[in-house]
Amino acid sequence: MGLVIQGGRLIDPKNKIDQVMNLVIEGDRVAQVSSKPVDLKGREVIDAKGMIISPGFIDLHVHLRDPGQEYKEDIRSGTESAAAGGFTSVCCMPNTRPVNDNETVTQYILEKAKREGFVHVLPVGAITKGSQGQELAEIGKLKEAGCVALSDDGWPVMNSEMMRRALEYAKSFDLVVMPHCEDKHLSEGGVMNEGRSSTEMGLRGIPCQAEEIMIARDILLADLTKSRVHFAHISSEGGVRLIREAKARGIPVTAETCPHYFSLTDEATIGYNTNAKMNPPLRGLKDREAVKSGLRDGTIDAISTDHAPHSPEEKEQEFDKAPFGIIGLETVLPLSLALEREGVISLQQMIGLLTYQPANILKIKKGSLEEGAFADITLFDPLAEWVLDSGQLKSKSRNTPFNGWKMNGQVRYTIVSGKVVYRS
Ligand SMILES: [Zn+2]
Repeated sequence: MGLVIQGGRLIDPKNKIDQVMNLVIEGDRVAQVSSKPVDLKGREVIDAKGMIISPGFIDLHVHLRDPGQEYKEDIRSGTESAAAGGFTSVCCMPNTRPVNDNETVTQYILEKAKREGFVHVLPVGAITKGSQGQELAEIGKLKEAGCVALSDDGWPVMNSEMMRRALEYAKSFDLVVMPHCEDKHLSEGGVMNEGRSSTEMGLRGIPCQAEEIMIARDILLADLTKSRVHFAHISSEGGVRLIREAKARGIPVTAETCPHYFSLTDEATIGYNTNAKMNPPLRGLKDREAVKSGLRDGTIDAISTDHAPHSPEEKEQEFDKAPFGIIGLETVLPLSLALEREGVISLQQMIGLLTYQPANILKIKKGSLEEGAFADITLFDPLAEWVLDSGQLKSKSRNTPFNGWKMNGQVRYTIVSGKVVYRS
């Protein structure tokens, strides 16, 4: 058998390819990439005319809620949602129940993903035991079990000495650390961005500085330890500026942002809309523009989703009580394409932010489509128009602020290890 993808515009930014190409897949690998006609005999053919052929998208930041909160999402539904969004690999954050701070949980995730998953699942291990910030997790064992990175996401490691030691250990195992940057003392009790909207609604705000103080600290610690730090979900103007300056000074830092931070501002929370409640919170206009400039000039290396499912009952509480987080796997492509239409970034840049750049951060061999590479591929129609109906999503949860939005750009096929796992 085998599969041929014919006549699509192949954009592979890592290999600097942007050309109509035919792709032959044999088994789980790319067997041939050619601008000339290829042998179709005995092969399944996908006509990709009008479509973009991209390396499969890689999401550095997803909450699969499994083990422990499968009513929100599980490995099966979460990876099905990922496939529908064009992702072929997702990193799952360790704030499960129990926390992924030991090899038993890591093995459970990997085994279930192998059995039921639609896409590759790359577990992120906790930095500290229980993500409590008190005692380092067994980092070597986590790596051995298959963790690709470390994070206490949802929680900062507030103790600077603990963070320093974590970075030193992580360096010895060549793992990147992905801090959740939030000074918990400064953000305490806050439920949204501190600004005009929070004042008008009478809600306690979280200042941008809660994020920026910790980014600044972790830049200093990255410099001290020469260990790789990848900043999760950057939302603020000051955060982007600090990271830009750190990179210019040669400090080994990278960063990601999420579609909501370049698509929305804190005005989306007006009316106490809990589907716009996330952490870090949606910020002001100047922050949103700074995030875009960070994407444009390469300060921000990756677009991740921070897909964070919650049940309707949880999100239908009062704004103060509702949990932080929104889902995002199935809307990333159209929201990112909007940046291209606005002229913020090129299509090639957008694909880079979703493919080889996240792969480079993890130091994994994914995110490009040369002969011999694993056949993880996303085909999308950049012009298709559709309206988001949250009831139709593959995720178990519905907590998106984009319900009813007109979207441009739709995933047509997601191929994982040579097999079509999603088509629309
Ligand atoms: Zn986080």
